[in-house]
Amino acid sequence: MRLCDKEVSPIGLGTWGMGGGFWTPDYSNDDAYVSAIRYAYERGIRLFDTAEMYGGGHTEELVGRALRDFLDDVLIVSKVWPNHLHYDDLVRSAEASRRRLGVRSIDLYLIHWPNRDVPLSESIRALEDLVDRGVIRCFGVSNFDARLLEEAVSTAKKYEVVADEVEYSVYNRWPERDLIPLARRLGVTIIAYSPLGRGSVASDRRLAEIGKKYGRTPVQVALNYLMRSSIPIPKSSRKEHIDEIVGSMGWSLSDEDAAVISRL
Ligand code: NAP
Repeated sequence: MRLCDKEVSPIGLGTWGMGGGFWTPDYSNDDAYVSAIRYAYERGIRLFDTAEMYGGGHTEELVGRALRDFLDDVLIVSKVWPNHLHYDDLVRSAEASRRRLGVRSIDLYLIHWPNRDVPLSESIRALEDLVDRGVIRCFGVSNFDARLLEEAVSTAKKYEVVADEVEYSVYNRWPERDLIPLARRLGVTIIAYSPLGRGSVASDRRLAEIGKKYGRTPVQVALNYLMRSSIPIPKSSRKEHIDEIVGSMGWSLSDEDAAVISRL
């Protein structure tokens, strides 16, 4: 599928926790994280999700290091934290993220969370100017419900809002109610974060039962279900888990089994 004029895999890789936590870097495992991200690329993953907040920017440095030889081939998503949504702050954040990633332009840049204290029109004006200057190629939002997404789409005059990244898993299917139908109508791609329920789907017996028919694991069944209407971005820094994640692509659950999952 295509996003921001690039061909992307139906699944991406999340990077939260690699290289630090909430605004705090951790340099102790850099080589392992770089090698996990590169491994995901080698296994066919072409979309990578990060944010300025992750590791206080260090996660972006690791993503940039891992992917520097394949930049034309991958789509990198980064995000601006909600305390940086005024015009000048947003521009500064994007320029800093671009530098840390080591890219000419950030492929897809998202407002990480809405902030009611800053007019959306001001943030979108900054995003549109960043596209004009080539600092970012595309923009979107994250954690926007249907009402806010509609507002963002109608505020953007010059370029389209291309994606909304929201929590979506087999345990948390709230986007199915009105967000996914709206996004489909508006041509906005849904990116599904925490798609493994932060790891808990791996031991789900009901998903295991459905997976038997296809020779697939609960993780693969859960991700394949989400791929029907979104791009899930599971996070893993373990090669065997990345292998399992990659095995969620290239086959499809039947409509009947998807309906069973949507009633779990
Ligand atoms: P997740 O992807 O649902 O779960 C990640 C957890 O699952 C990790 O502990 C990982 O451990 C484990 N895991 C991965 N593959 C596994 C497998 N095959 N078997 C068993 N366990 C497995 O949760 P998440 O990290 O919260 O979400 C994914 C990404 O979404 C984040 O990394 C981030 O990029 C993004 N995100 C965005 C927002 C936002 O506000 N926009 C919020 C949250 C997350 P190992 O590393 O050991 O495999």
